[in-house]
Amino acid sequence: MTDSVVDSILAARYLRKGEKTFEDICHRVAVALARNEGERQEYYEAMHSLRFLPNSPTLMNAGTEIGQLSACFTLYVGDSIPEIFHALEWGALIHKSGGGTGYNFSKIRPEGAPVQSTDGVASGPISFMKVFNAATDVIKQGGRRRGANMGILNVWHPDVLRFIHAKNVEGELSNFNISVMVNDRFMEFVESGQMGKVWITHPYTDEEITVGAIWNGIIDGIWRNGEPGVLFYDEINRKNPTPQLGDIDTTNPCGEQPLLPFESCVLGSINLSKFVSGSAIDEESLKRTVRMAVRFLDAVIDNNVFPIPQIEEATGKTRKVGLGLMGVHDALLMLGLPYDAEEGRRLCERVMALVNDTAVEESHVLAGERGVFPAFEGSVWGEYGMRNAALTTIAPTGTISLLAGCSSGVEPVFSYAYTRKNTVGKTFVMLHPIFEAELRRVVGALGLGSDEVEERVQAVIDHVHETGTVRDIGWLPVSFRRLFQTALDIDWRDHVRMQAVFQRHVHASISKTINMPNAATREEIGEAVLMAWRSGLKGMTIYRTGSREDVVLALKEKK
Ligand code: ADP
Repeated sequence: MTDSVVDSILAARYLRKGEKTFEDICHRVAVALARNEGERQEYYEAMHSLRFLPNSPTLMNAGTEIGQLSACFTLYVGDSIPEIFHALEWGALIHKSGGGTGYNFSKIRPEGAPVQSTDGVASGPISFMKVFNAATDVIKQGGRRRGANMGILNVWHPDVLRFIHAKNVEGELSNFNISVMVNDRFMEFVESGQMGKVWITHPYTDEEITVGAIWNGIIDGIWRNGEPGVLFYDEINRKNPTPQLGDIDTTNPCGEQPLLPFESCVLGSINLSKFVSGSAIDEESLKRTVRMAVRFLDAVIDNNVFPIPQIEEATGKTRKVGLGLMGVHDALLMLGLPYDAEEGRRLCERVMALVNDTAVEESHVLAGERGVFPAFEGSVWGEYGMRNAALTTIAPTGTISLLAGCSSGVEPVFSYAYTRKNTVGKTFVMLHPIFEAELRRVVGALGLGSDEVEERVQAVIDHVHETGTVRDIGWLPVSFRRLFQTALDIDWRDHVRMQAVFQRHVHASISKTINMPNAATREEIGEAVLMAWRSGLKGMTIYRTGSREDVVLALKEKK
């Protein structure tokens, strides 16, 4: 990553008055969170070396007056005008402070239902979502970024078809990711092919909604533009760490945090590429960083300035934190392990298990020092004292991975050569550093003259830049072509397999896109959702290459 890219991220997002450098930010954050000088140095070092970064709100707001440090929130939306508009107000406060909000709109009565106080009829959840969408448009997060929302509807809500089609027109609900919350019962009907089965009879229109109508609507939406996402209610609740507090039916905007109403969660990600030592992961060093990160994130809860008392209360009861990884594909590349091979998955499984187990141990130690989380009694942790009800997650790391200069979250690299514009508008080709080094090494080993080496290297770069792949460059060694696969080269089944590997060792959930080629059929998309459900995922997002751009192009042609 060039310094100018980092500088522009810092300036646009993180630098506060009087700050000039990344060092200043690390210093401010470390001072705000550390309990003593030793911790301060540890926190500073972890961030400054780019081994660990907390989510953007912590980097932006720690040690400032705003003081809101979490990325993820879920809000309760009830079925009355005050309850709906309270949620709108709270959502605005969260966006202003840099967080993202998730809502499940299923409590809202369906379209056509009677409204007693006015003798009128209800307009249904989707019409209210439009109000939330418009509010998000006008609230820029202190000028730093636009707010993000997740809108969820349960598959057993009578307006589910309207919801599924709510984003069919490009530009509608553009500040929302939408996801359908499906349950096992629904998926079992789909799996056994009972498409004609009437799933719901709409109480006010008498419309008979079949399993097939819902399923085909979901699949068609995904095929067209990647939405709705799908969330798996039963799996989320089988893994709910505090069942005594109620079921979970909502996630934050990118889906990695299923949370109870009014809970919030702070995220932090360890850059795995910094722990590659020779041909292995330095596990001792990784464990030390996990322990530091658990203390860091736990301290965020105590230092957080929460937007409303309900959020402070719900968050304080469970003390959930979201520790995850980024730079995972980079680490695999450095180790020479393909993302879509058993070997790569085995390494990921081992690493995530280590992170998860170490995080649990550290939370146990913290519980000994400071007490268990207040809702511990009745939780899944039984006799084993814990400071935090849940500890691990995989975030998208959209901005912090740019800052760290590593691949984002657990996603495969999207492209090894891409165009960037510098500040004066000049475009240039950026190369993935591991790719470039390895390319020069393999071409150099062919025994050619230096001019020809340079020509061949340039030819590969041009090819990757134009087509996005090295798969079809026959003269490159097979092992090189096998290793440097991109998100689009990798088969969708391997995307799902990798997500499942991480999910086995993650308490919360995983933000990941399952990429499918443009030629993917609706049947394949259906297979992918079924595979995700059977693999124990809590949710999934699919994107068929080029589908969204096609819509935009088609719109332009019409005009
Ligand atoms: P970052 O890299 O900036 O720390 P991530 O890309 O990992 O953030 O996103 C983590 C979470 O932060 C998201 O799932 C969402 O809850 C929240 N978030 C991300 N982008 C936004 C945004 N523009 N507005 C509000 N919240 C956001």
